[in-house]
Amino acid sequence: MKEYDFVVIGSGIAGLSFALKAAKHGSVAVVTKRKGADSNTAWAQGGIACVTSEEDSFELHVRDTIEVGAGLCDEEVVRTIITEGPERIRELVDLGLQFDEREVAGHREFDLGREAGHSKRRVLHVQDVTGKEIENTLLRELDRQSHVDLLENHMAVDLITAGKLGFAAEDRCLGVYVLDEKTGAVETIRSDRIVLATGGCGKVYLYTTNPDIATGDGVAMAWRAGAVIANMEFIQFHPTCLFHAKAKSFLISEAVRGEGGILRNNRGEDFMKRYDSRGSLAPRDIVARAIDAEIKRSGAQCVFLDITDKPVEFLRERFPHIYETCLRFGIDISKQPIPVVPAAHYQCGGIKTDVNGATSLPGLYAIGEVGCTGLHGANRLASNSLLEGLAVAHRACETMLRGQSRSHRAQRTSLPEWESGDVQDVDELVVIYHNWDEIRRLMWDYVGIVRSDKRLQRASARSRNLQRGISEFYWNFKVSVDLLELRNLATVAALIVDSALSRKESRGLHYTLDFPQAEDRQLKHETLLSRS
Ligand SMILES: Cc1cc2nc3c(=O)[nH]c(=O)nc-3n(C[C@H](O)[C@H](O)[C@H](O)COP(=O)(O)OP(=O)(O)OC[C@H]3O[C@@H](n4cnc5c(N)ncnc54)[C@H](O)[C@@H]3O)c2cc1C
Repeated sequence: MKEYDFVVIGSGIAGLSFALKAAKHGSVAVVTKRKGADSNTAWAQGGIACVTSEEDSFELHVRDTIEVGAGLCDEEVVRTIITEGPERIRELVDLGLQFDEREVAGHREFDLGREAGHSKRRVLHVQDVTGKEIENTLLRELDRQSHVDLLENHMAVDLITAGKLGFAAEDRCLGVYVLDEKTGAVETIRSDRIVLATGGCGKVYLYTTNPDIATGDGVAMAWRAGAVIANMEFIQFHPTCLFHAKAKSFLISEAVRGEGGILRNNRGEDFMKRYDSRGSLAPRDIVARAIDAEIKRSGAQCVFLDITDKPVEFLRERFPHIYETCLRFGIDISKQPIPVVPAAHYQCGGIKTDVNGATSLPGLYAIGEVGCTGLHGANRLASNSLLEGLAVAHRACETMLRGQSRSHRAQRTSLPEWESGDVQDVDELVVIYHNWDEIRRLMWDYVGIVRSDKRLQRASARSRNLQRGISEFYWNFKVSVDLLELRNLATVAALIVDSALSRKESRGLHYTLDFPQAEDRQLKHETLLSRS
């Protein structure tokens, strides 16, 4: 059995920035299921929202966040994260990250991007590869730390809790079982400070902008451990994912619309004006629903994002990654509009936490996309998620250090080893792939951008059946990454469906034909689910 002062599961912006801080105070394991850089973070294009300009203010950023959050944001949390942003950005710059700058009246300042829902230019970026640069900077720094073990190709299977072991004392998290993907062995890692930083669950949907790692593992593990899960009905669909037979999950950043890109239908009309006075710059949920309606109405397979009025030099300089990638697929974005469709992008709900990442289960923290602090409410303001990852990672570490003496007592408990089923019947593996496809199709068709009670009930019945089948399979077979991810996807799908069914109104990202209006804002409530 291994033992660490801190165990972080996930190596995106939240996990890595937490690990760098924790490494100053003790031993740290960073458990990550693929290579270190495999994360949503590395795919982020637009940048990080943060108030750095004199023309901007914390008040305006708070107001924009709350406005987009459709009445469900926790104002205190919003204020805390936004006002702490500049300090967290300074730390990234101190680690060597160079955000794009421009020359203004003889001095250098950040080149701030504009994105939908923001009333000011406030998005710091490194061209359109911000996430990759952040990920590389953090990994480079992690490599210099002697107290940190980066365990790549290690997948967290389940949390170990006092409750599950039958201890009479207060339930708390005591450790985690981790599958070493190379040896196939499941290791026990003990720590009374476990941090889930596992990112989102885009892969639960057929079409997503997320990489393959985004299978909702953190939410599923926390749910099984008895933690409270919040607001899972609020899945953000990004309006503009490249529509091309060979392009898997390639996002066309919101910043393209921020720089003047116009959405057009198959007749070339600037249709967004019919849906919202802000036109193509309306918030994501409105744009995604409008595209969905436009596609259904016309029978077309996609709509088009037109940025052809910008000079090719500007496009190459501002969006080199998008420009080059589209060109590889035969689309010259300086000459022709980009075919786009909406796709599942971001999980606004997650494991319920306070602003310090503390969950309802003592000893367990959740930071970054996997957690639900109340920052995003019913919809996320673009580019607020990288900021949240940084801010909450910092606060989680500070909080743990304050609670140090109390937590050490729990660490003496001895933990049982993992017991695994023995059978590995290759013929039956087809069941995994079949169920995987079925869940993703089911969620896309019945729990997508526009919902109804009938569709949700259908999804609920089918997902319960799938869960039963998968559970039987799970207990009889040796664990593998595919089987674990399938089990987690099925759990998260059921949580999204249950949350959606319990919200009898349309608000933010949850739109249902049966209750098209938002309830009175006074009646606003979070959707909370828990096993215990
Ligand atoms: C295409 C794209 C563009 C985006 N653009 C922006 C943007 O411009 N601005 C912005 O603010 N946000 C953006 N986002 C959202 C943002 O990137 C994510 O919300 C953020 O990076 C999440 O960071 P994280 O650290 O919480 O998780 P991630 O970066 O997703 O990292 C999760 C980590 O957990 C690991 N993991 C998962 N499950 C397990 C397990 N069971 N065991 C071990 N390891 C596990 C993964 O391998 C990964 O290392 C974008 C997202 C996408 C997909």
